Amino acid sequence: MADEQLGLEGMPRRLYSCTPTRLTTWLDCPRRYRFTYLDRPTPAKGPPWAHNSLGSSVHNALRSWWDVPLGRRTPEAAGTLVESGWLTDGYRDDAQSASVRARARAMVERYVARLDPEVEPRAVERTVATKTERLALSGRVDRIDERPTEVSGTQDGGTELVVVDYKTGRSALTTDDARGSLALAMYVLGTRRTLRARARRVELHHLPSGDVLGFDHTEESLARHLRRAESIADEASAADEAYRSAVASVAGELETEELDRLFPPRTGALCGFCDFRRHCPVGQAASPVKQPWHAVEELALE
Ligand code: SF4
Repeated sequence: MADEQLGLEGMPRRLYSCTPTRLTTWLDCPRRYRFTYLDRPTPAKGPPWAHNSLGSSVHNALRSWWDVPLGRRTPEAAGTLVESGWLTDGYRDDAQSASVRARARAMVERYVARLDPEVEPRAVERTVATKTERLALSGRVDRIDERPTEVSGTQDGGTELVVVDYKTGRSALTTDDARGSLALAMYVLGTRRTLRARARRVELHHLPSGDVLGFDHTEESLARHLRRAESIADEASAADEAYRSAVASVAGELETEELDRLFPPRTGALCGFCDFRRHCPVGQAASPVKQPWHAVEELALE
């Protein structure tokens, strides 16, 4: 959606502050973007999702594991952290929650068994940020490793930082997921700026399979991602401005048609998992409702 279409050509732009998630929410569905970031009070969400509880429980355990004293930093300690910090929201019942918890514990222990507890990451759950003339981006990286720099298979004596992102979903991932991730590319730029160090590599660590999908960015690939981020930010920012102007006007609100023009619904498979589905008839028609535990059901049965 261009500025002309929004009637905003010539208006000065403010710096658009965002996370990569905000940008991808705009891409996935502008209506969901409005519900999430603009409408206040935020429309009531549906019930919590079990897959989010699973993801948070695993991420929290992996973060806390690095705080365990070195001598006790074992796979079993990681499993204990999963158990002690287990989040139960969204499961069908206690039995399903316990079944998934046992799977998650085993998955985390397997993953941690492949880590060297003595090689401390440079940072864990670290917020990084970067800025251009059009946007200010920030986000939290699961883990930032420091590793020897390799050029054509040879170490050059220096080190560089590697952006690591944990994934707990069931779907298998490929290298294309690492290469194509806007968020990971933005994290590389944020890591460079925040930690003032070399960085180019991103890695998705898929815990269910143990796969590591990595990609070494080049300056060109990072520039491509940044151009894309700025282009998404331009669209979202123009719609934000139109929304704010309308809210600040005498009428105080936008007509439904105008809202839908600025923030069109984009239906798809994700509608079944959308927190705001109950406010969106077109999304309800597009995808059957999913139970809060839908995405972990297979895990509970294995
Ligand atoms: S239900 Fe679908 S179309 Fe509606 S807001 Fe959610 S993602 Fe968008």
